[in-house]
Amino acid sequence: MPTIITNSSNGAHPHELILIGGGHTHVLLLRKLSKNPLRGVRMTMVSDFECAAYSGMLPGHISGFYQQAELLIDLRHLCRLANVQFIHAKACGMNLKQKQVLLDGSAEPLAADLVSINVGGISCTEGVEGAKSWAIPAKPVPCLLKGWASTMAAARNSTGRLQIILVGGGAGGVELALAMRSRLAHAEFTIIHSEPCLLPGHNSRARHIVHNLLLERNVAAITEAKVVEVMPDSVRLDDGQLLAADFVFWVTQAVPPAWLGESGLDITREGFIRVKPTLQAINHPWIFAAGDAASIENRKLPRSGVFAVRMAKPLEHNLRAYLAGRLLKDYKPQRHSLSLIGTADGRAIASYSDLAARSAFFWWLKNWIDQRFMRQFQ
Ligand SMILES: Cc1cc2nc3c(=O)[nH]c(=O)nc-3n(C[C@H](O)[C@H](O)[C@H](O)COP(=O)(O)OP(=O)(O)OC[C@H]3O[C@@H](n4cnc5c(N)ncnc54)[C@H](O)[C@@H]3O)c2cc1C
Repeated sequence: MPTIITNSSNGAHPHELILIGGGHTHVLLLRKLSKNPLRGVRMTMVSDFECAAYSGMLPGHISGFYQQAELLIDLRHLCRLANVQFIHAKACGMNLKQKQVLLDGSAEPLAADLVSINVGGISCTEGVEGAKSWAIPAKPVPCLLKGWASTMAAARNSTGRLQIILVGGGAGGVELALAMRSRLAHAEFTIIHSEPCLLPGHNSRARHIVHNLLLERNVAAITEAKVVEVMPDSVRLDDGQLLAADFVFWVTQAVPPAWLGESGLDITREGFIRVKPTLQAINHPWIFAAGDAASIENRKLPRSGVFAVRMAKPLEHNLRAYLAGRLLKDYKPQRHSLSLIGTADGRAIASYSDLAARSAFFWWLKNWIDQRFMRQFQ
């Protein structure tokens, strides 16, 4: 049964704004609203978790640099500051005709004049036998934290070498593997990746650095292979090979929840909400979407926290403009963005366009950027 905390709202409000999901874009939006309130609107946030997890510091937490509390943002508190009602519940659909947001359980649907969706994605295990039961998804983050706690407990109680498999060799998978390795010196780590090279979307120099680091840290990588079945103690690859596995972490590209498409929103083949550059859903100008769940027409953006964060400013502007009947602005993403990948040794790889390097300075920079981001919510 969802918990509903209502902030003081005594008069009739002309508009109901519902924020679905406490992702990177919405936490920054709340922060902006707490400083510059949106008047004449009753705002509600629906979130399935009471805290939002800042993924940039997640591998740093795994490797022991940060306490868990350092990467969590208290959504209830943030909502209170922004005078937004907080509903601890999972949205499970939308009635587009009646303009309603549907919630899991027996809660009443929420009437909405305006909706903003920032639900990120969940690790996709669709079609992989046993994965839902035995693999630990990287998203939602609380599942990963729980899975990591179990892995650490098993390592403490085990006399043998744990076999740990990470499925997905993108930046997240590689960073997690290095972080886990730094804590479990006696475990065997293997990354399984479906493409020919790890770190897709990064330049060859960054890939080269990662390749050497994984060799040095004794983390195996199997490329051009797919896990087709997960069992309690092993995984099966698409070529029939069976690999022993005590823990399987699923770090593949996250996909948005299925209810978005099932509600009748226009979605891409992979399930992302198709939006205009104003972040408005195609055919539904009263619905906005941002972060990983959104796919902007004719633009291919990396799905990363960096872009989700950058969307907060145009989203705020356009929500205000929509309510005031003013012209909306297009979100103009930058062509290249700097990726900083921690290597769990006080250093990080910086990857930008065709350039990449690894140094202690880049870890200092990453830590500075991440801490500065989180300080806004303390
Ligand atoms: C291990 C790892 C490391 C990463 N490191 C980085 C990094 O260093 N830099 C970077 O830029 N990116 C990084 N990423 C990618 C980054 O996590 C995502 O791109 C980013 O979180 C997307 O942000 P978002 O705002 O779209 O949504 P999210 O941050 O995913 O948040 C969505 C929120 O919505 C909630 N929600 C979902 N469904 C519902 C529902 N039905 N009802 C209510 N609430 C719901 C979720 O619980 C969640 O709190 C990393 C990812 C992983 C897995």
